[in-house]
Amino acid sequence: MNVALMLSRSASMTPSAPALALGRDLLLDYAGLWRRVTMLSEGLGRMAAPGDRVVLAMQNLPDYLVLMFAALHRGLVIVPVNAALQTREIEYCLADSGAVACFTDSGHAEALAHLPGKVETLRAVIDVESEAFQALSIPISDQTPVERRSENPAWIFYTSGTTGRPKGAVLSHGSLRAMAMAQLSDYGTPPPGACLVHHAPLSHASGLLAIPFVASGALQVIPEPEHRSVAGVLALTSHWGGAYLFSAPTFLNRLVAVASVNPADAAGIRTIFFGGAPMYVEDLSRALAVLGPRLAQIYGQGESPMTISGVPAQAYGSATGDELRRLMASVGWVRSGVELAILDEAGERSPPGKPGMVAVRGDVVMSEYWNMAEATASTLVGGWLHTGDIGIFDDSGLLSLVDRAKEVIISGGLNIYPREVEEVLLSHPDVAEVSVVGLPDAEWGEITVAAVVARAGRTIDTQDLDALCLDNIARFKRPKKYFVVDELPKSAYGKILKKDIRSTLIGKRLPNAVAG
Ligand code: AMP
Repeated sequence: MNVALMLSRSASMTPSAPALALGRDLLLDYAGLWRRVTMLSEGLGRMAAPGDRVVLAMQNLPDYLVLMFAALHRGLVIVPVNAALQTREIEYCLADSGAVACFTDSGHAEALAHLPGKVETLRAVIDVESEAFQALSIPISDQTPVERRSENPAWIFYTSGTTGRPKGAVLSHGSLRAMAMAQLSDYGTPPPGACLVHHAPLSHASGLLAIPFVASGALQVIPEPEHRSVAGVLALTSHWGGAYLFSAPTFLNRLVAVASVNPADAAGIRTIFFGGAPMYVEDLSRALAVLGPRLAQIYGQGESPMTISGVPAQAYGSATGDELRRLMASVGWVRSGVELAILDEAGERSPPGKPGMVAVRGDVVMSEYWNMAEATASTLVGGWLHTGDIGIFDDSGLLSLVDRAKEVIISGGLNIYPREVEEVLLSHPDVAEVSVVGLPDAEWGEITVAAVVARAGRTIDTQDLDALCLDNIARFKRPKKYFVVDELPKSAYGKILKKDIRSTLIGKRLPNAVAG
């Protein structure tokens, strides 16, 4: 089944329901959105054939969603990449995926214009804000999507590349359908009048979430540039009401800080789905105190989009005491339609209480890494996707992530999971953000060091932090050095870039670094 049929169903059931808005302005209802999508699909069919890849490298715009569904409707494989990437990173995705076209916005068109000469397969760079793009839409009578089977590729998701070279996870129509169905079944169908505010990049979680939200006939709201700040997003959610958002922890923490001053500002928010990076217990506890049970967690990765485990909002609402604390420290329960196991080094299932590789299988899991047979073979083993995350089940089936396997620090032969140390340091009132990494050391192999950002108006006393660690974790785990910094390096999706922290700390090039 072509996943674009999910839009066609909403267009038949609720043709006059609001479908797409820019800021406060409603642009299209569902009948209008379907018409635009099918007209553009017809034009795309004249420049590309089913199975061809098209890159979407642009900021969030209403036409992003139109294009996304039109390309899927035409059987093309979409390759959404973050517009904040450097030109050479976008070029890598174009060349690696063998894309025939690159769609972009007027802010990026010039920088990308020369690429058709450089990337062999690339025939055109098209600015969706130009007349040439509008001219691609052609009225048609037959609106049936190109037939796709479940295994046909639909979306290539380039991993954000916090380590190594980005790899293209191939997601099929069946995978996107499984993701959408699991979303609706585990978190509930949004009620009539609901909207999804896409402040986060459409190339990642927010764009994936658009599929189940379109399937439920909800309004998709694209913020205008002035609505991209926390205050702007809150103003939009107040305007439309019943709003859902996807947010990485960094943005959520900022939103919580604003809403804690005036909780009424967040009255238009129905649910914030958070995920994409660890949400620390202290931060989540503060967020729940300010927003109440309007937070739902999603743990997924490009290779198993949005769907490994999660916590629905009502579960945070009904848990108390120790149960709530355990829930806040976890990434929740296995999602519908997926099987989840913790595997030991021999690939055998580990019992509850024992950490190991988080592995998943099910329809949602990627088919392969694009053109990377070796990486595919070492990641998809015996049908199980090895996520690269180290996790642990408790007796009740609640999953907690210990850390990324690649981030484990081995010091004096002992394993240290940075996440555990970070949780402790973040409980200090002077600490706003922290990242713990291992640095090479002649004596220990690696030593634990922490890069710490102070809360506004506070100063960090590293002896205080050391005392806190001694009270809470084994002595050998505590950082041997602290670096107080103004900010932590982050990827375009807000993920803390540990490899950059490591390299700058090794070279001591971190701005304002103070060794403690
Ligand atoms: P990406 O493929 O770029 O979406 O990155 C996926 C990775 O982000 C996962 O493998 C996890 O390491 C991390 N991640 C995603 N969601 C969560 C979550 N809810 N809690 C902790 N880490 C997460």
